Amino acid sequence: MAGDRADWAVELHGVQRRYGRGRTAVHALRGIDLTLRPGTFTAVMGPSGSGKSTFLQCAAGLDRPTTGTVRLGGTEITGMKENKLTALRRTRLGFVFQAFNLLPSLTVEQNVVLPMRLAGHRPDRRRTADVLAQVGLTDKARRRPAQLSGGQQQRVAIARALVTRPDVVFADEPTGALDTTTAAEILSLLRQAVDTHTATVVMVTHDPSAAAWADRVLFLADGEIVGHLDRGTPAQIAARMTALTAPDSFTQAAA
Ligand code: ADP
Repeated sequence: MAGDRADWAVELHGVQRRYGRGRTAVHALRGIDLTLRPGTFTAVMGPSGSGKSTFLQCAAGLDRPTTGTVRLGGTEITGMKENKLTALRRTRLGFVFQAFNLLPSLTVEQNVVLPMRLAGHRPDRRRTADVLAQVGLTDKARRRPAQLSGGQQQRVAIARALVTRPDVVFADEPTGALDTTTAAEILSLLRQAVDTHTATVVMVTHDPSAAAWADRVLFLADGEIVGHLDRGTPAQIAARMTALTAPDSFTQAAA
């Protein structure tokens, strides 16, 4: 029976992404199989060039896998026409980027309601007030992004990502431009969105302290998921990353 919510927020089956053809082809993703439950917080880590961005782009319908399928909130997006995919991204996905990506000419409140407007929906003022309160920016609703600190701007981006109650929020290095204290505030907001509002968050990061806020860390290497760690500490996550980036020395040490 079709339920209100899908069993899985995110499903990837046999997802491969190849750039180019023939001898010069780059296999950015070599067959990703992954299912994430609603209400979970997942971090994705891996060395530079391991396929993190490609993974996020394919999972979020911003890029198309060469083979394999992606389902979001129970809807298969592989093969979906571009206009339908755009509509789905606006209404059912949220995005948080390293560079905040707010529109400078709009107020905080206008930035937050933008996904609803772009989807052709009437802005829900009550919902907007709720998400602004959730990120602690009620008193900044009429400010413009340039009048806010970096951390405050990222909080606006989080409110904007949450306003439509999306199936999944995709975050790409959301704390990459922030100092440690501000980064922790942003991560605790994402954690809170998962814990108290059952949001589903998938976050790419290179920072073990950021990844430690997630329920599970997935490790990517050379286009494949090579392991995971549940409820890892920053030190445990950092150790796994070191093993991934220096596999030869580890093999030698183990030999
Ligand atoms: P990460 O985000 O982990 O650094 P990426 O997903 O950006 O990794 O890249 C994975 C691999 O795919 C790398 O080898 C990269 O050079 C390659 N790649 C990424 N985008 C393109 C592209 N548009 N064209 C060709 N190769 C690409």
